[in-house]
Formats: sequence, structure tokens, C-alpha cells
Amino acid sequence: AKHLGKHGVQLHDPAMTDRRAADARLGEDLAGALDRGELHVLYQPLVDLASGRPVGAEALVRWQHPRLGVVSPARFIPIAERSGTIADIGMFVLETACRQVAGWDGVYVSVNVSPRQLQEETLVTDVLDVLARTGLAPDRLVLEITESALVDESAGIAKLRALRDHGIHVAIDDFGTGYSSLHYLTRLPVDILKIDRSFVAELNGTPEGSGITEAILRLSQVLHLTTVAEGIETAEQAAELQLLGCAIGQGYLFARPLPPARFLELLVSSVPQ
Ligand code: C2E
Ligand code: CA
Ligand code: CA
Ligand code: CA
Repeated sequence: AKHLGKHGVQLHDPAMTDRRAADARLGEDLAGALDRGELHVLYQPLVDLASGRPVGAEALVRWQHPRLGVVSPARFIPIAERSGTIADIGMFVLETACRQVAGWDGVYVSVNVSPRQLQEETLVTDVLDVLARTGLAPDRLVLEITESALVDESAGIAKLRALRDHGIHVAIDDFGTGYSSLHYLTRLPVDILKIDRSFVAELNGTPEGSGITEAILRLSQVLHLTTVAEGIETAEQAAELQLLGCAIGQGYLFARPLPPARFLELLVSSVPQ
């Protein structure tokens, strides 16, 4: 909220000014973070709800800041979006994740693509080059896009269509929180809907709690899409999702985002004996 000075003049909110200054400093630090090796990638299991086994991994970037410690991507990705650093960070995450997962049998990797990356003229060739360099098969890569990035973005949609023609899969992230109409959804080049964790948090065994999740699951059935439920924290939520027909889940119940060595341990230990 803005403060009013004693003469009724609007002054800057000191908290806002502090935040902007902090963002600006973080943006400057971020510009060199990649070259200094401060960014790394964690992998959170995507689990087959029926068998409990990991079928994929979402790549999630982390920034180990020399003074501030770990900075959350929720904090620095928006700053990277505004400054344009997201292009390099995005490519770093994509290449790191594809190279890593190429060495893991039987799992795919899901990589976040920000709205600004989707606007990059070279996105399609960049992604194909990464697959060629890392040897990851295209059908083992999922690109996660938020709904809002796709609204009125015919150029971005054309790029996704081209990537899909090469066998890469596309997921809509945080599904249900954006503004796209259902009719619009039928025309998007999409394979997977990720049910936002706010809906998973509402599951409590009642029809009211499961309403939106059920609607999304029914919708994806009709459109022949796969669903992934995000933010599963309890066994009850997992059981209810499975009952409702959700195939794949992700959340702290199964595992937090893990360093590669820990993910591999989990993968090896989950192989049926
Ligand atoms: P997201 O894409 O929706 O990723 C899921 C977030 O939910 C991750 O947060 C994950 O750690 C967290 N999460 C997973 N399971 C649970 C759970 O059971 N409960 C709760 N409360 N949270 C859970 P994280 O890693 O902090 O990432 C936050 C956001 O930052 C991501 O949200 C994504 O929008 C963005 N992000 C992260 N990595 C990248 C990246 O490489 N590129 C881009 N463009 N964005 C990224
Ligand atoms: Ca995501
Ligand atoms: Ca998400
Ligand atoms: Ca999110």
C-alpha cells in the first residue's frame, strides 16, 4: 500500500523501494552466476501412482548465492525474465537435465520453459541441438509451459507444434490457475496437464474438495491427455487422486527435489526385484 505524507502527497512505500533495490542487486549478481558455476539442477520424481515407481523427473534450478545462500527460483526466475538472463539460464537447465537423464534408464525429464523463452526465435533449433548434443531421445523430453504464456501467443504455439512434430512432449504447468478457455485448450499442441497444487491441497475425501480436480481429470480423459498432480503431501491425497483416475503424481510425499546422485539411488531402489 502507498503511504500518504502529511500534506496528502503520495510517498514511495519504503518496503517497495527496498524490494526493488534488492531485486536490482540480485539481478546484477545473477548476470554472472552462471559463469561462476553458482547454478545447479535438482530432480523431483514424477511417480506412477499405481506402482509407486518414478517414471520421470522435473528439473528444478537452484542458485547457491555466495552470500545469501540458496535463493529460490520463485524469487530469481521473474528477475531473470525481466532482464533477459532467462535465455541462458533456461538453456543451461535444459542441457544439464537432458545430459543427466540420458544416463538414466526408463525415465523422462520435464523442463520448465518460461514465457520469454517461448518468444525466442531460435527455441526450436536450440532444443533440437541440445537433444543432438546430449543423445536424449525426443520422446523422453517434456517441456512445461504455463497457461498464461500461451494465451494469444500464436508464434509460441507454432513453436510447440514444431517441437511436438519432432516427438517432444508438451505439458501445461499449474493447470487451472490461468485464464484459457476450454475451447482454446482443444486447439493447443499439448500432451500433459499438470494439476496445480492448490487443487490437490483441497482434496479431503468430499465432493466439494475434489470438484476441480475431478473436472480436470475428466477433461483430460476426453482430450486424451495425461495428468500429473502436483504438490502431493499426504498418502490420503495420493489415494484419492489414484481413485479419481490420475496417472502420475509429484510431491513431498514421494520426494523433495533431489541432487542427481540421490535421484539415481531412488531410481535403483525402486526397480522391482
Ligand atoms: P513449478 O514449475 O510449479 O515447480 C513445482 C514447485 O513446487 C517446485 O518449487 C517444487 O519444489 C515445489 N513442490 C514440489 N512438491 C511440493 C509439495 O508437495 N508441496 C509444496 N508446497 N511444494 C512442492 P521450486 O523448485 O521452488 O520452484 C518454484 C518455481 O520456480 C517453479 O514452479 C517454476 O515456476 C520456477 N522454476 C524452477 N526451476 C525453473 C527453471 O529451470 N526454469 C524456469 N523457467 N522456471 C523454473
Ligand atoms: Ca513446473
Ligand atoms: Ca507447477
Ligand atoms: Ca508454480
